[in-house]
Parts: sequence; C-alpha cells; structure tokens
Amino acid sequence: MPADLHIHTHFSDSTLSPREIVEEACRGGLSTIAITDHDTIDGISESNYWGEQYGLSVIPGVELSANTLKREVHMLGYFIDMNSESLRTYLRTFRETRYKRAQKMVEKLAELGQRISFDRIKELAGRGCIGRLHVAAVMCEARIADSTAEAFQYIGQNGPCYVPKYHISPRQAIQIIRAVGGLPVLAHPGTLDYDEFIPQLISEGLAGLEAYHTEHPPKVEEHYRHLAEKYGLLITGGSDCHGLGKGRIMIGERVISDEMVTKLRQAHCGMQ
Ligand code: AMP
Ligand code: FE
Ligand code: FE
Ligand code: ZN
Repeated sequence: MPADLHIHTHFSDSTLSPREIVEEACRGGLSTIAITDHDTIDGISESNYWGEQYGLSVIPGVELSANTLKREVHMLGYFIDMNSESLRTYLRTFRETRYKRAQKMVEKLAELGQRISFDRIKELAGRGCIGRLHVAAVMCEARIADSTAEAFQYIGQNGPCYVPKYHISPRQAIQIIRAVGGLPVLAHPGTLDYDEFIPQLISEGLAGLEAYHTEHPPKVEEHYRHLAEKYGLLITGGSDCHGLGKGRIMIGERVISDEMVTKLRQAHCGMQ
C-alpha cells in the first residue's frame, strides 16, 4: 500500500486536525503517513493516537526552513526524537520569530495601504504556528487578494512585503535533525533550482531527496529519482497537503511504495 510522507496539520498551516488526516489517509487506502509540520512537533502525539486507532502507521517528522544567499530551502526531518528538549527549544525559537515576522508583514502591507488584522491572523493560526498561508487567508478575507496566489504576489519571496524567517543555513537544519536521530531529506527540490549544492549537502549529512511531490511534474520526479540513485540517497515523496490551506485536500496525491518506506526505516535503524 502507498505512503504519503509530507502532510501538515492545523498545528502548523493546514486546516486539518490529525484525526481528519488519519481518516482521509485510511479512506485513500494508505499504509503510512508522515506528519511534517513547519517548526512544530505538537501534532505528532495526537496523530500517533489516531493512527493507532485506525491501524495507520505514522512517521514523526518536521519541516524546517533554511536560507541561503539566494533562496529559502526546506528540510524535512524524519524519525526525529519527539522528546528532545533541545529540538523543542529550537522549534520554540523558530515559532517566536514567525510570530514577529507576521507582525512585520502586516506592517509592510499597511505601508502599501493594505490593512489587515494581526489578531485575525493569530485567531486563524489558533494553537498552530503562524505561517504565510494564514496571512494570505486574512488578505483574502480583507479582499486585498482574490486568491492565495495573488496574496503571495505581496508576501512571496519576490514580493514587496516578503519577510524572511529565522536565519539558519541548510547545514544547520541538517545538524538539528541529525542531532535528534532524524533523517534529513531535501523537500521539493524541483521548486528550488538548487541541484548544484546537493553534493555539498550530502557531505553535511543529507540523507535523501523528496523526489515525489505535488509540485513536481513527472519529468522532474524522474530527474530526482535518478539523482538520488546516483548519489545513493533515500527517495521520499508526499502530497505536502495543507488541507484547504492550499485549496483542496491532497492527501495521497503523491505517494511512495512501502518498499521505499522500508528503506527509510532501515536507514533510521542503522543510525541507532
Ligand atoms: P511560511 O512557512 O510561513 O514561509 O509559508 C510557507 C507556505 O506557503 C508553504 O506551505 C508554501 O507551500 C506556501 N507557499 C510558498 N510560496 C507560495 C506561493 N507562491 N503560492 C502559494 N503558496 C505558497
Ligand atoms: Fe506550509
Ligand atoms: Fe515546504
Ligand atoms: Zn510542507
């Protein structure tokens, strides 16, 4: 049965609860999912609980953001130790900077005459960690934008109201994940134009490439599968579902085989 190893919960910027995610994954006939929230692992224990109830295997994960001079790079960490205090401390700091960053985006939008409420952003994020999808949703509510894509013309990387997150390098993201027994995997490399740096990341401890992703056309998936094979890296994949945060529920739209999941598990066991 297939596995979707890139799913967000409402503990970050998805609209779905762990229970809804597990139910949807079961409806789609999946064997395994991974929970990979941005900068938080708070959704994992609830996901594990529902996974056990429904007989679905749940891999604990996280998605960190890192910056290079030119772009933002996302690093997935699989099998991270949920009980690590040092990881929790890092994530808490990252979430605090996200909070301030959203405030800055509100200020920058106001400078352009586009007023939105920071309280509404906080309300939408709820217990979750604040992200640009929350800002985009409030921009749509305030009719500053008609769609998420339009909102990202302001807050996207090249937009006038873009504010970077915390500053860690891809190397530091790899180290944070490795330090808690996790496997670092470069997320959606097809969206990055970053191939020339992959050998460097491997020397720093990269374990895999997310070859299969909903933003990768088939040719791109093929390319990263080959690249992973060439470098002896693990291959992962998933939908990157954000619930309705990205318009529709995508759980199961990109999957990998159980065999690939087994390789990932073996690599993790080999580290211990
Ligand atoms: P953040 O972690 O707060 O920077 O927000 C990142 C989220 O915004 C991720 O879920 C991305 O997939 C999404 N995102 C980034 N760029 C765009 C874009 N141009 N259009 C729509 N969503 C985007
Ligand atoms: Fe996200
Ligand atoms: Fe990402
Ligand atoms: Zn993601």
